[in-house]
Amino acid sequence: ASDAASPLKASDATGHINWDSLGFGVEHIAPIMFRATYTAEDGWQGGLEPYGPLEMLPSAQVLNYGQSVFEGMKAQRSARGRIVLFRPEENAVRMRAGAARLSMPPPPMELYVEAVTSAVRANAAWVPPRGRGSLYLRPLLLGTGPILGLGPAPAYTLVVYAAAVGCYFKCGQLTPIDLIVEERFHRAAPGGMGGTKAAGNYSPVLMTQLAAKEQGYNDVVYLDAKTDTYLEEVSSCNIFTVTGRTIRTPPLEGTILPGVTRRSLIELARARGYTVEEVPIPVADAMEADEVFTSGTAVVVSAVGSITYQGRRRQYGELGRPSPVTLEMYEALTSLQQELDDDPFGWVVPV
Ligand code: PMP
Repeated sequence: ASDAASPLKASDATGHINWDSLGFGVEHIAPIMFRATYTAEDGWQGGLEPYGPLEMLPSAQVLNYGQSVFEGMKAQRSARGRIVLFRPEENAVRMRAGAARLSMPPPPMELYVEAVTSAVRANAAWVPPRGRGSLYLRPLLLGTGPILGLGPAPAYTLVVYAAAVGCYFKCGQLTPIDLIVEERFHRAAPGGMGGTKAAGNYSPVLMTQLAAKEQGYNDVVYLDAKTDTYLEEVSSCNIFTVTGRTIRTPPLEGTILPGVTRRSLIELARARGYTVEEVPIPVADAMEADEVFTSGTAVVVSAVGSITYQGRRRQYGELGRPSPVTLEMYEALTSLQQELDDDPFGWVVPV
């Protein structure tokens, strides 16, 4: 509808939102979403519409066999007074790779970027004031056409909805989190789909995550499924260790998600003179590191205050405070994303 597609004025539409108490939830879903459908005959067709239910039949492929990949991105207000995205094409590339892995039609790069850009523009009033949060974008690619026997869907839906969000972990952005190493379950196996942002990778981590939370941890760290020796990642973020001037993160071998934040931090750290290694990290080494931090679009850079493994708890740095390299990387990334610093990489894209 043309009404739905016209940019919202930053009027009182968001007057009810307290920008200082944003969490990471569905309380402030933005009113406009992008939706396109795909069939082999008609290709991709769609546009902006009011946020609302998706109608599909019980025989929809996604409801039966789980053809579903998603993305997570943020739009924020920058110091230069504009609304910016961070490396949107990287998310498009990842969604396309996940689509291919799940036998879905990869949305063209231009369609993906247009979908997220138009969703941000239409919901501009829902982008929080600078420094108080961001508009989180959730692109979904779903096999929505009907099917009974196992096979790919005859039709697909690409949706981008958005929500005004603040901090991901309840404790606040710079408060270190407590992790426990998961010693029973694995998140992914070689040859599986751990390296994709498939919805199916996320329900199985709930059980371990909820159990960890019950014991007072913020989240769990997974180990590799083959040897139970090396760090993989956290339920929804990548992990780094710091030892002296060397920063390490597990390599991308198909079992961990290739995080856009991870990749950006590697480049930022190298530009700052750190040695960065993408190498398998034995959990025993991580327990001896100077610092540990996690990275992701939602968590940004999050200091790890402690890791518990085989009943032993290692505390990093000063209680309740992020350690220096973690803080430096957090500031380097967020200054660039908010255009407080120059962006020599060309990562920041105005909408
Ligand atoms: N690992 C997992 C399992 C994730 O879900 C995410 C969030 N997309 C990440 C890592 C971090 O990826 P990114 O930096 O692209 O948000």
